[in-house]
Amino acid sequence: MPNFDVTLGNSDTRWKQMQSFIEKPNLLNKEDMPQWYQEGSYINTGYRPIMHSVRFCLRSLLYEHNETGSIYSHLLGFVFVASFMGYAISRLLNSGMPGISWKDGLILWLDYGSSLVLLFNSSVFHTFCCHSESVNRNCLKADFNSVILMMTGKFVSTAFYAFYCMPEAQYMYAGLGIVVAIAIVIFNTMTMFQSPAYITTKAGLFFAFGSLAIVPVIHCIVLYGVGISVRAMGLKYLGGFALSSVIGTAVFIFRLPERWSPYTFDYWGNSHQIMHVAILASIVFHCCAVFNAFEFWHLSNGTCEIPVSEMVLGPTVWNPFG
Ligand SMILES: [Zn+2]
Repeated sequence: MPNFDVTLGNSDTRWKQMQSFIEKPNLLNKEDMPQWYQEGSYINTGYRPIMHSVRFCLRSLLYEHNETGSIYSHLLGFVFVASFMGYAISRLLNSGMPGISWKDGLILWLDYGSSLVLLFNSSVFHTFCCHSESVNRNCLKADFNSVILMMTGKFVSTAFYAFYCMPEAQYMYAGLGIVVAIAIVIFNTMTMFQSPAYITTKAGLFFAFGSLAIVPVIHCIVLYGVGISVRAMGLKYLGGFALSSVIGTAVFIFRLPERWSPYTFDYWGNSHQIMHVAILASIVFHCCAVFNAFEFWHLSNGTCEIPVSEMVLGPTVWNPFG
């Protein structure tokens, strides 16, 4: 973690700090904030002052400001995903379906873990972004890299189940996803690209990485046809995943709706919060896609004894929450 300034001075200073800790600070307008904080933002009011204190940043969890929605959308999302997705994965892996192995556990728990890392790091960034410029930049870097980690987890798990009986294709797509992810992480981590001016470029890279997922989808349809692909990849849920990802990226890049109506969405309903909800929706959709694909393969060809061309569609019989 970056250097947090948590030093306390003498008793007078400590008392003053205690008083200001209890009181909500005056929130600031955009023009009162340093240039490095306000760059590229269409939010005009509700800014916390630059705090230089971990405790005061944490204290801001208890009052309303313009990051409250961004913090809690992912903090509550973390609790939701940790409990429901964790419960569903445990049930899947212990369901007794044919062919369940350690590889399923590895893929599902990595997918789960990468989603939780993103939701947690995002909450940390929005809580501490008003600490100082260096903390803001380092937490933002961690936040962006967490998005890449989550996308890699989702890309690899999608390919793993799409090509459940084709280990070569699984390794090829896993390798492709990891190489692209490393390239984007290097770009994101280089100091020269840390300015908010590059934020749209980074969002574009995320979108390009997400779009890469169309390749295994087409590959899967060519191999199995549409009917089996819908079940083998959980395709209808992947559609929801893609739609929520596109909506989240678009509102983020174009800063909508706050660009259209200044001041109206400063606290609630701005593009960043919509993007957070879209990310949460995309995690849930993808989770359903992977569970659907898991169930299809393990119930119809768990040990890969049947050639793919002879596989038939069976009924859905397993409900993770049943
Ligand atoms: Zn965020």
